[in-house]
Amino acid sequence: MHNFLPIAYFKNQFVPFAEANLSIATHALHYGTGAFGGLRGIPDPTNPDRVFLFRLDKHCQRLSKSATLINYDLPADKIQTIITDFVQKNRPTQSFYIRPFVYTSGLGIAPRLHNIEKDFFVYGLELGDYLSPDGVTCRISSWCRQEDRSLPLRGKISGAYITSSLAKTEAVESGFDEAILLNSQGKVSEASGMNIFIIRNGELITPGYDQDILEGITRGSILTVAQDLGIKVVERPVDKSELFIADEVFLSGTAAKITPVKKIETYALPKERPITDKLKDKLTAITENKEPEYRDWVFTIAL
Ligand code: PMP
Repeated sequence: MHNFLPIAYFKNQFVPFAEANLSIATHALHYGTGAFGGLRGIPDPTNPDRVFLFRLDKHCQRLSKSATLINYDLPADKIQTIITDFVQKNRPTQSFYIRPFVYTSGLGIAPRLHNIEKDFFVYGLELGDYLSPDGVTCRISSWCRQEDRSLPLRGKISGAYITSSLAKTEAVESGFDEAILLNSQGKVSEASGMNIFIIRNGELITPGYDQDILEGITRGSILTVAQDLGIKVVERPVDKSELFIADEVFLSGTAAKITPVKKIETYALPKERPITDKLKDKLTAITENKEPEYRDWVFTIAL
């Protein structure tokens, strides 16, 4: 069971989380016509009256664009103000995750995006490690990542997560921790809720935006950090067989942070992960606001 933060933003006001409830006839529940965000925050270890939110601006911009994709106009600065107020009202004391959600909130049937009421809510929960920080085992999913010509993959569209759910459950029920999905071209795309990176011969390689990936904010941050550390970065299509000869593989995401991959199908990856470890240490220090050069990535909220 999760520890939800006590206050939610719902129907334009802050209410106790337990009172933020929807009708069973809510349109988005039936058609997956929502879009969400997910961002992490931590209490400032040096000051109990402050929290740090990682890349708040980027998360609000992405959600605003996702809202556009479901015909809803929700400016990023409005989302940012509501999230800031949300955090101040909740005063979290543990590492936490915020879930803002835009959706077709009207009641009734018929899938559509026009002529249906839309709304926005925010709730949060305490969240430690989403995946084991020591590493995970992955299977190659029998489910394929969707294509952008079927739905807008640039947004975090809620309906798209049926594929993630199928892939994750298939992986877990067959004895693995996570799923790696190929795209319709048979190239490596991403995991159920994370982007993927491989390291070969000292190069950091990740599938590009043309590989049906979500434009992960952690992914973008890692690419910048890697370049700053002098690591060669390549965005290009990745073949499945490259997974089985990679020196290191890791998954990235807001919830998963940087999670090393220990094994893919029957291939056990090397135990030494120098580049993954270096990036992970740096990213952790950045999110804890210990890296002055990246201070503009960390939003300090006074409680
Ligand atoms: N891919 C998918 C499908 C996701 O749901 C997520 C999590 N938002 C990611 C990648 C990673 O994105 P981010 O780093 O922005 O959390």
